[in-house]
Amino acid sequence: MSNDRSTSPSARSVKTSMRSARPAKRSRRTAKPASQAKGAGVEATVSFDQLNLSPDLLRAARRMGYTKPTPIQHEAIPLLLDGRDLMASAATGSGKTAAFLLPILDRLQGRPRGSTRALVLTPTRELAAQILDHFRALSAGTGLRAAAVYGGVSQGPQVKAFRTGTEVIIATPGRLLDHFQHSYAKLVGLEFLVLDEADRMLDLGFLPDVRRILNHLRGKQQTLLFSATLPAPIVDLAQRMRRVPATIHFEPKPVPAHGITHRAYAVPPELKTRLLLEILRREAPDRVLAFNRTRHRANRLAEFLDRHSVP
Ligand code: AMP
Repeated sequence: MSNDRSTSPSARSVKTSMRSARPAKRSRRTAKPASQAKGAGVEATVSFDQLNLSPDLLRAARRMGYTKPTPIQHEAIPLLLDGRDLMASAATGSGKTAAFLLPILDRLQGRPRGSTRALVLTPTRELAAQILDHFRALSAGTGLRAAAVYGGVSQGPQVKAFRTGTEVIIATPGRLLDHFQHSYAKLVGLEFLVLDEADRMLDLGFLPDVRRILNHLRGKQQTLLFSATLPAPIVDLAQRMRRVPATIHFEPKPVPAHGITHRAYAVPPELKTRLLLEILRREAPDRVLAFNRTRHRANRLAEFLDRHSVP
């Protein structure tokens, strides 16, 4: 299915397709996942309140200044609250971090503490640190803990994070594999795995490491894959999910640059240059760039404008 929407600050077209090897478990929640709702993707949910997130998380979103969900949040949060695996093409800036953190936080709130239940894999330490900051802002008041695990810093605090069962670990692949050499990092109780910026992990050559990590895990966790683009190796990776994932594609709609207005004039071909001349005379713009299909046409237009004293 495919549809356009304008529910978010940056309107874009959204295509959602869902396939499932077995039916998704219905949760205690009453709201339908956006993509299963009739007319899915049509402007249905415009406020966070309708997403069935806990009051703590709604307060956190408000504190962050989020007035309404971005399209990826609107689509992904109900699916994730319902336990679906997900493959989403969404770039940085789409609000994807909160799209996975909010439902994970919501579901972890009701779970016992002291065991690592969510693992977020991300390509760089900077991204890991950013996700940790985002987690801290959204989790305030929930009592849930997170730690970042990446190379180039002492392993001591990271070992402690594993040993004390920090609920959410945000890691880069190489350093995580180092920890996997040790028995304290088995992650046997893992419930959520997020592969964030998967295409960047591919670009940076981390895919073999990611596969090793997947082999190490028991495969029982709900898996969420976010990637700006979905090249074949990333789609292959998604095939390894426990169930066929719901997929969400966000295709940015081309928009004119700030300060540019688009206008179209329906005019017979023989009047095009006359119309252009008239517009240039009336509006007297300082500088104009006129695109033509051929060099010959560009020359003819330049001569025509010269003849009519357009400088
Ligand atoms: P991300 O795509 O996750 O890197 O997020 C990009 C930026 O959007 C971050 O600064 C977020 O704090 C912000 N953001 C996330 N969700 C929303 C929302 N619903 N409303 C406004 N801003 C948001």
